[in-house]
Amino acid sequence: MLNYIHNVVRHNQAAETPKDNSVLKFCEYYSASMWPALIVSGFMILGFGIFLVFVTGVLGITIFLGGLLMIVAGTILKEPKPPTPDAPNKRYCKFCMAEVDSEPLTCPECGFVE
Ligand SMILES: [Zn+2]
Repeated sequence: MLNYIHNVVRHNQAAETPKDNSVLKFCEYYSASMWPALIVSGFMILGFGIFLVFVTGVLGITIFLGGLLMIVAGTILKEPKPPTPDAPNKRYCKFCMAEVDSEPLTCPECGFVE
């Protein structure tokens, strides 16, 4: 697992190592390779895990460690880009996530009306 994360980090660094070594570039690069939402949810799970340690014991410790893992992964991994439709006249159905034409407001896959 750690080896995998290390490889991902090395791959990201190889892809976009900053050419200018100024402090600003350094900060921009490292803030770009973070996943803030994952870190925030990691802290929430961490707090819930601390609460559960007093209530359940061992289960709380596993939840706590899960939150810790999420925070570590959130500082290392880059936030994935949301998927975009292949063509500009396409969209994703809000209900079934099928890629459909943007013109008819009723989804041909599931019948959901926007
Ligand atoms: Zn649909």
